[in-house]
Amino acid sequence: MSQIGNTIPATLIPGDGIGPEIVSAVTDVLATLGAPFEWDTQLAGMAAMASSGDPLPLKTIDSIRRTGLALKGPLTTPVGGGFKSINVTLRQEFELFANVRPARTLIPGGRFDDIDIVLIRENLEGFYAAMEHYMPIGHDPRAVAIASGFNSRTECRRIIRYAFDYAVKNGRRKVTIVHKANILKVLTGIFLEVGHEIAKEYEGRIEMNERIVDACAMQLVLDPWQYDVIVTTNLFGDILSDLIAGLVGGLGMAPGANIGTDAAIFEAVHGSAPDLAGKGIANPLALLLASEIMLQHVGRKDLADRLTAAINDVVLTDGVRTRDLGGIADTRTLTEALKQKLA
Ligand code: NAD
Repeated sequence: MSQIGNTIPATLIPGDGIGPEIVSAVTDVLATLGAPFEWDTQLAGMAAMASSGDPLPLKTIDSIRRTGLALKGPLTTPVGGGFKSINVTLRQEFELFANVRPARTLIPGGRFDDIDIVLIRENLEGFYAAMEHYMPIGHDPRAVAIASGFNSRTECRRIIRYAFDYAVKNGRRKVTIVHKANILKVLTGIFLEVGHEIAKEYEGRIEMNERIVDACAMQLVLDPWQYDVIVTTNLFGDILSDLIAGLVGGLGMAPGANIGTDAAIFEAVHGSAPDLAGKGIANPLALLLASEIMLQHVGRKDLADRLTAAINDVVLTDGVRTRDLGGIADTRTLTEALKQKLA
């Protein structure tokens, strides 16, 4: 991240599907808020594919390398067919080792009230290393499907230490290490082992406990309030973060931050929602909440707090909500209501 005068250069990726609609809503709101970002708009995903034949053009990579900061709309990844996810590529290219997904109840009266859980997911290793292949048997060239994953001690240390540091910095009390070391004794055993080692450094400051991933999934539904910060491996983190998003009203409210040492990319947890694209009814809140974390990341907690207050006023007090949250507002109506609060 670099600061030029009062502005902070940041890369803006509109993305695919509903991406351009929600990105434009968010940049509108941020402009009214007086956010310091000076956007360098670049393409990725299907939009980039259509314009340059490359889903992740060098120009986009160069821009993120220069700014060290990006706000990204969702990208469509075709299923199968040797097309590597751009999201995964970006995480690997910039070594964005931590995926941080906070989930907080915004609208009370849902199935669960007062949820406040932060899931921190290891972002580079596990089964996402995409080492997959088929093994032929007889006449069937694809008779057996094989995937291997890996977790390195170095990366386990980095992500678990990040989770404990996050807990300290953000006034949280507990970190839960989620694993499957009873079955994947080596692959996730190393994660648990490192978890115990790091927890000792924080003894007396941050409580640590551990859960097997399946038990964790059940408890998240039966008694989610026992969780504070969760740290886990890549695939478990992917699944559990969607489950946790469901506790607070679904994907339309779930922001995510991909943090590395030299760069950070902020995004909504949801995808490009092709079913809603072009209809102007998508919920921009998840991406807006991601921009709020981005403001905190660049040291503008003052603006992040003003944004939180405006979202609370509009969504909670005034009841302006998109359809996924049971309301009737379209993207523009919600955007204008937020801008009015911040003007
Ligand atoms: P999705 O998150 O796009 O949609 C799932 C459901 O949630 C749909 O019913 C959709 O209408 C709804 N939804 C999602 N975002 C919403 C919003 N902002 N407002 C209201 N409703 C919303 O998941 P999917 O359909 O499985 O994936 C579609 C594409 O997105 C795929 O190509 C997938 O690979 C990609 N994807 C990208 C990212 C990313 O870029 N970070 C994340 C997940 C999926």
